[in-house]
Amino acid sequence: MTDSNILTQIDAHIQQNTDYWLAQLARLCAQPSISAQNIGIQETAELVATLLREQGYHAEIMPSDGYPVIYGEGGAGEKTLLLYLHYDVQPPEPLELWESPPFEMTRRGDLFYARGISDDKGHIISRLAALAAVRDVLGELPCRVKFIIEGEEEVGSPNMPTFIWQHKEKLAADACIWEFGGVDYNGTPMQSLGMRGICYTELSVQTATMDAHSGLGGSIFPNAAWRLVWALNSLKDENEHILIPGFYENVRLPSALDLELLAKLPDYAAQLKQNYGLASFLKGIAGGLELKQTAVFAPTCTICGLTAGYQGAGVKTVLPAKASAKVDFRLVPDQSPEEIATKLRAHLDTQGFNDVEVKLLGGGRPAKVPPDHPFVQLANETAVAVYGKEPLVEPMVGGSGPNYPFIHVLGLPVVSAGIGYPGSQVHAPNENMRLDYYLLGTRHTAYIIEGFARMA
Ligand SMILES: [Zn+2]
Repeated sequence: MTDSNILTQIDAHIQQNTDYWLAQLARLCAQPSISAQNIGIQETAELVATLLREQGYHAEIMPSDGYPVIYGEGGAGEKTLLLYLHYDVQPPEPLELWESPPFEMTRRGDLFYARGISDDKGHIISRLAALAAVRDVLGELPCRVKFIIEGEEEVGSPNMPTFIWQHKEKLAADACIWEFGGVDYNGTPMQSLGMRGICYTELSVQTATMDAHSGLGGSIFPNAAWRLVWALNSLKDENEHILIPGFYENVRLPSALDLELLAKLPDYAAQLKQNYGLASFLKGIAGGLELKQTAVFAPTCTICGLTAGYQGAGVKTVLPAKASAKVDFRLVPDQSPEEIATKLRAHLDTQGFNDVEVKLLGGGRPAKVPPDHPFVQLANETAVAVYGKEPLVEPMVGGSGPNYPFIHVLGLPVVSAGIGYPGSQVHAPNENMRLDYYLLGTRHTAYIIEGFARMA
């Protein structure tokens, strides 16, 4: 049998089993699993393990330092493919904006609505449907498959790095498919190869045991709000240069290939300006490659919020005793959150801000897969076969995720493939999945699995 024959049969299998898998998706979406509110976590972990077992996989619910992780495995062969997914979802609120109940999959035309239907329960089902197609067409799975399905992705995967370190041998594999994927506004497949890291901090200062009348203390008491503003002001200059000594010393510049890929991506400058009502971009950047490169390959220092004193209606002449700010740093390879937190502390001390306390509220390291890795090539070639067009390859995206331990602890190339599209409304009311993109994303996943088993 030729490859194209096999692929045609895989396509037919996915098409013919659509109703079965939509029914499984409805079953999974009906079970709430809101990690932020600790709702339905154990029940969903058990349901996901059941779904894997129904497909003949060995599945276990493993404890972590947080919510349980489902580990699954099956198939046989020399090579092992790891599938990373998550069973938790974002809270459905505000409920009044949903046109149908969030935990009841509802079809309207060729759109299916439910919380988590795209992020990430639709991807769990799509992976299972793709594997079933490859298995049934070939008679057996052509490679070993391992699943790692966590329940804390929507709260930042705080325990994933440790979990992966602890189970390094069990999770050993040759390649990994990430939990998301899909197309852009034009239906063009997207491939994301890297994510920035993050160092999320809270800076706080207390200058007195209670707020004071500004007439009493204004000339003679230290003011927490001013202390904080001065400390923040020392972090970055007007040219967007971050002033923490050593901040840039581990920054690795994008490769020539990274820049080539960025150059091929659409220029969203005008659209961004319009959507956000911006007069201009920072540093006078007009658009083009410079904007694309700066947007994802430059580290940041962002004030996310400030709190001090009185901000209600009218006048309150108060001198605040306490002030705090949340500040996040998006990191690029090879920076690390621990390094940046240490350098931030040292900088504040040197600048005379020993009174400003720094708390590290969360962090994750940046990581990227080389664009010329053979597994990335396979994901790109199979995307062309399924979608009929070249994928847009992003060497790096601006956001953050737990890809570092997969790339650097397990040593895996990680690619994206999936059912998402820009109208999915993930994290928002009326989250949905389009039937055509479900079928395309499932075929793409199946083609990757089939091709992976034959890869040299
Ligand atoms: Zn999400």
